[in-house]
Amino acid sequence: MTYDVAIVGGGPGGYTAAEEAASRGLSVVLFERDLVGGTCLNRGCIPTKALLHDATPRASFTEMHARKQAVVDQLRDGIEKLLKQRKVTVVRGQACITSPSIVECGGQAYEARDIIIATGSVPTSIPVPGIDLPDTYTSNDLLEGEGVMLSSLVVIGGGVIGVEFATMYAQLGTRVTILEATERILPPLDREIAQRVTMHLKKRGVKVEASARVMGIEGEPGAMQVHYTDRRGNQGVAEAEGVLVACGRRANTEGLFSPAVQPELSRGALVCDEAGRTSEEHLWAIGDVVAGTIQLAHVAEAQARNVVAYICGDEPPVEMGIIPSCAYTSPEVASVGLTADEAKARGIAVRTSKALTGANGKCLVEESESGFVKLVADAETGAILGAQLVCPRATDLVAELALAISLGCTATQITRVIHPHPTVSELVSSAARALVC
Ligand code: NAD
Repeated sequence: MTYDVAIVGGGPGGYTAAEEAASRGLSVVLFERDLVGGTCLNRGCIPTKALLHDATPRASFTEMHARKQAVVDQLRDGIEKLLKQRKVTVVRGQACITSPSIVECGGQAYEARDIIIATGSVPTSIPVPGIDLPDTYTSNDLLEGEGVMLSSLVVIGGGVIGVEFATMYAQLGTRVTILEATERILPPLDREIAQRVTMHLKKRGVKVEASARVMGIEGEPGAMQVHYTDRRGNQGVAEAEGVLVACGRRANTEGLFSPAVQPELSRGALVCDEAGRTSEEHLWAIGDVVAGTIQLAHVAEAQARNVVAYICGDEPPVEMGIIPSCAYTSPEVASVGLTADEAKARGIAVRTSKALTGANGKCLVEESESGFVKLVADAETGAILGAQLVCPRATDLVAELALAISLGCTATQITRVIHPHPTVSELVSSAARALVC
């Protein structure tokens, strides 16, 4: 069997590439060993957001997980139908790339002119004693099936996964402790965002221990102890029914290549150029499996659309320089473009402005927790270079600011656009007005 394109992995990168390639008239085969939809749909973005939506102290944990599953199943069904409509051949099983034009799966060889690797990532572990004890979980364990209800939880890692799980379990009434190795949670985001999220987590009773060095885990089922050293070098113990390890994810390339195909790897991740070419001709990679990539579903989808364009000899349709990032805390946080500190580090003179939720009608009506929209603009031209948001629906609002940055809009141009009232989006126009005054 010969195809134009073979795709290994059916997550957001893989299924978008399949759909895009097929809609351009290419014949496509897609290999998936588990469920179409990948981490994002089956044990990542979608299930966490469904659970976060429903989590309250009175919520039924069983019903929460049942609704989560219904949402996941509906979306997966949609993807499967779309792939069928586009006449993509879906092959179930573990695929192995045996040459830059052959994928083997289930004892059969499939030939393709180009191969796109979209095998994603898996949770990383940390080298401390006790990490394999039974009540030590990954995000996969807590999201799949009926979940795990816990009266207390220690989260190791205060990145996006750690903070979202801490938010969800705290909403259920679980006693949560976050142990974060660096000096603040959500380390890549703006300092002020981290401070605000820390404040809101603490208000909900979450203990946030930054600059914590985890030394080991001990205990028996239901009574775990995580030993750590705090910022002052003192020994601490965080006790809980369960432990979530959320210390990042690593590229999933295990068993993917036969000895005849050895593309360049960096710590197990595929080294690619900007177009997504690996070191082997006609072998491309997209999404979390790529070395140095930002591990986000929307990045994988954008890379998928671009890679298919490159394969067809076309210009890439998506600009990869402006990538919004979001965390579904309460309130939500989002960020796009440069922070003031990043601009400073690059020698760019900037002006910043901030609109506070306390002065926004919709936020007051909704009794939302305190937050802000902060804009970073070029001091000379007024062009918007970045935005950091902590407010209700920040993860939706950030799209307007990504568009503004992409189009080179100035703060003045944003003030010319009427923002509806009363909405949270008025925080954007208020912050823009503060920049031009
Ligand atoms: P991450 O890299 O965002 O955060 C991991 C955190 O763990 C970091 O803050 C790191 O300093 C800390 N850490 C590492 N080792 C530690 C140790 N031994 N002790 C204590 N802390 C330690 O990784 P993640 O939160 O696991 O998420 C994985 C990927 O998935 C990320 O790229 C993330 O962007 C993506 N993701 C995105 C979303 C979203 O967009 N809303 C949601 C979930 C995951």
